[in-house]
Amino acid sequence: MDKLLERDVTYVKGVGPKKAELLEKLGIKNVYDLLQYCPRDYVDLSKPVCIKDAAPGAEEQVVLRARVAAKLPPSHIRKGMTICKAVFTDDTDDITVTLFNQEYLFSTLKEGEDYVLYGKITGNMLRREMNSPTIFPANSPDLIIPVYPLTAGLTQNALRGAVKKALDLIGEKIEDTMPRTVRERCCLCTQIYAWENVHFPRTLDGAHEARRRLIFDELLIYSLAVGYNRIMETNLNNYPLPPRSLEKFRRSLPFELTKAQMRAIGQIVTGMNGRRRMNRLLQGDVGSGKTVVAAAAAYFVYMSGFQSCVMAPTEILASQHYKTFQKLLEPLGMKIGLLTGSLTPKNKREVQEAAQRGELDCVVGTHALFSENSGFKNLALVITDEQHRFGVEQRAALAAKGGNPHRLVMTATPIPRTLALIFYGDLEISVLDEMPKGRKPISTYAVTGQLRERAYGFVKKQLDMGHQGYIVCPAVDENEVDLIDATSYYETLSNGVFKDYRLGLLHGKLPAAEKEDVMERFKAGEIDLLVSTTVIEVGVDVPNATIMFIENADRFGLSQLHQLRGRVGRGDSESYCVLISDNRSPDNIRRMKTISSTTDGFRIAEEDLRLRGPGDFFGTNQHGLPAFKIADLTRDTRLLEDAQSLSKEILDGDPALEKPEHAVMLELVKRLTDNGAEMT
Ligand code: ADP
Ligand code: MG
Repeated sequence: MDKLLERDVTYVKGVGPKKAELLEKLGIKNVYDLLQYCPRDYVDLSKPVCIKDAAPGAEEQVVLRARVAAKLPPSHIRKGMTICKAVFTDDTDDITVTLFNQEYLFSTLKEGEDYVLYGKITGNMLRREMNSPTIFPANSPDLIIPVYPLTAGLTQNALRGAVKKALDLIGEKIEDTMPRTVRERCCLCTQIYAWENVHFPRTLDGAHEARRRLIFDELLIYSLAVGYNRIMETNLNNYPLPPRSLEKFRRSLPFELTKAQMRAIGQIVTGMNGRRRMNRLLQGDVGSGKTVVAAAAAYFVYMSGFQSCVMAPTEILASQHYKTFQKLLEPLGMKIGLLTGSLTPKNKREVQEAAQRGELDCVVGTHALFSENSGFKNLALVITDEQHRFGVEQRAALAAKGGNPHRLVMTATPIPRTLALIFYGDLEISVLDEMPKGRKPISTYAVTGQLRERAYGFVKKQLDMGHQGYIVCPAVDENEVDLIDATSYYETLSNGVFKDYRLGLLHGKLPAAEKEDVMERFKAGEIDLLVSTTVIEVGVDVPNATIMFIENADRFGLSQLHQLRGRVGRGDSESYCVLISDNRSPDNIRRMKTISSTTDGFRIAEEDLRLRGPGDFFGTNQHGLPAFKIADLTRDTRLLEDAQSLSKEILDGDPALEKPEHAVMLELVKRLTDNGAEMT
């Protein structure tokens, strides 16, 4: 990259140490960062409103075009504080403009001349005012001005000024980061044009064109970084495991594996014998039988003389997997351990030491397994369930685990291919696109609270037939009075409608042992109806449960409802899901329609993604998606696809990015990686 761009921001005229400190808060350290810092919006000064139409007190800033009618004498209110006022008019009405400590600007205003003012209107209808607006001469060439995201202490004008000076500084003499051939083929403007026009566009089209180039750059560098790191990294296969027969495992199962499960197991086994370590996503709708595939993988690793581990997002799920693995694998000679946060320190240490000595073949646990110092003797496979529920740190810890073991990630969230690349890096995907035989589809009904009594009757009918059920309500804060909270709801139900039934209560704040106990009793059929928050959302598997009743269904995302609903329909009896929601907004009506008309997880996920955007889709601030500065993954899907295919093409021809024309790209890739961006 050009040396000029790498200069510290203080190299830009007018940027001293104090301003540099503020800029650093925005992630701006050098000239390049400054130029890449995009406005969040533009104001078109060529489209003013009339003063008489400008409403005082409105949140938005407005553009006025008015001439100076009178300048009032400045007043010095205290030491170092000057107030200057001027009255402007546009012949529809007057407005009083106040400037604080801007004597110089005030002195340049000429009575009778036209100016463009940009700011918030205060005062009232009789006397409108504007404090410290941005003021331009009406004949100013910059009629579209950028509006940046700011930090306290930094003004729009200061940032605009700095960017302008940075543009002056680089002039025309910067080498483009992207080779010309590539640029032309993708119909992208030059970098200089992009910087000039993203900051100070002549037209909004120009700004759009500029932004397109910068978004593309960002996505391309990210895609290159994912691919490059995968090529360069130490991701060679440290545990090449030659094929061996899993016949014994297959014969020990109480059911026939589906074709999709067989295929996935085959891909996993082959993958572990490849040149690179296996890094595979196992994607399958709720109930498609991912656990048994994971168990097959663990068994295969064990047969080769190595250890594996399973990471689950909740204790309930960890202990459930533990039991499933025990049931499936101990008869085949494997030793399974459980490691969760709620173990006593002594027990924890015992399990850890046993894993270190190689006495355990597979350890199942929550992420505590990884955040604490737990070693293995010869760990060759890390299985992660529902990884999108983990925070970034855990994923990083996982990636940093020594020995570079194979990785298998299970998820029930069907992720569009392009997003999967961003989210999981360049990993392979196995899909379970077939349900085990004999599954009955779940019938879903969305109703309003008026039908609650009838719906309770329906639940009772299921329980009377010897089945079990769930009633789910959202987790609530104290101030959300209109929502039902699990504990009081549980009491109401067990003293009322369901007093003749055995009820259980499960929520996140219960001590782990109690949770465990409730789940245990529910599994054993000692509880008919489980009142719960979403702690049961992931993975809980009780085939005798046939009815799911969800309160305030509009509080859940579509994919989440689908996950919840997946807790029923796991046996061979007809199953039902009742959604209660009084929210009549068009969006919600549409959501309820979607969820009750299809059980296709893919369609539901796509609708969900469309409605909520990727951040929310993966769960707020836990999603682990890289923070893009300019790109927006919902909006820029097309550009992302283009960037990804270009990145692949570039790396196919130049895997180490050694060619001179790729030098700048390589530098940007390295910079991204070194900045701690996580490349899965
Ligand atoms: P998920 O993919 O949602 O994690 P699970 O692995 O929990 O699904 O499996 C759901 C249920 O289906 C479990 O009770 C499991 O024993 C059962 N199952 C898995 N594979 C099959 C199969 N091939 N035939 C019949 N039942 C199966
Ligand atoms: Mg599961």
